[in-house]
Amino acid sequence: MHKKLIITIDGPAGSGKTTIAKLISNKLKIAYLDTGAMYRGVAFALNKMGWSGNKEKIKSFLQDIRFDLVYKEGGSLLRMNGNVLGDEIRTEEVGLMASNIAKLQIVRKYLTKVQRRIARDVSLVAEGRDMGSVVFPNADFKFFLDASPEIRAKRRVEQLRELGISVNYQDILEELQKRDIQDSTRAISPLRPAEDAIKIDTSNLTLSQVLDKIMWYVKGHS
Ligand code: C5P
Repeated sequence: MHKKLIITIDGPAGSGKTTIAKLISNKLKIAYLDTGAMYRGVAFALNKMGWSGNKEKIKSFLQDIRFDLVYKEGGSLLRMNGNVLGDEIRTEEVGLMASNIAKLQIVRKYLTKVQRRIARDVSLVAEGRDMGSVVFPNADFKFFLDASPEIRAKRRVEQLRELGISVNYQDILEELQKRDIQDSTRAISPLRPAEDAIKIDTSNLTLSQVLDKIMWYVKGHS
């Protein structure tokens, strides 16, 4: 039997972590956890119910939500209250809402607990902002991906257009930079590489080059 494996991939929006995490999950046949989707799912639902910042309401809201990860070879499905989180959470607007609620201790504490529970029994590639630094400090491999804001914005525009969401490059660049500042300056679990993370600047690398680099570490040392 193989040892349980945890790989963390952190980095800012557009650094390539989602695509890479999915590719690693397919290559190693292990589950993939998109923790940004959890923050987005919570933010989207709170916004839908017209939440106005009341702490008690968010507490009871969190008590009522359940996340689960269904792993099948070829893909992992993250569900919130039994529903797969879909493309409606992928807009930059929801990204910013997610960044707003990601500052709250109550939300981070709850999602950290859920993320650790999901990882208890399975091998996992987990991507987000604080996977290596806070949630899985003992992960087997930690990576931190980055790229210039302009390249990240360009990638984001392409991703959103592929989903049929029409966007303007300048708007995306500004929103992404706003989110970068908010995510890296917050008091709790700010976006930053874990001390023992392997940092990769993906600005001038193709996806397969990034994947090869990561797989070199994982295959060579596991
Ligand atoms: O990765 P994604 O862009 O989907 O994340 C949306 C937002 O959720 C981020 O800007 C960040 O504020 C928050 N987030 C976080 N911690 C994580 C994952 C996402 O704070 N582990």
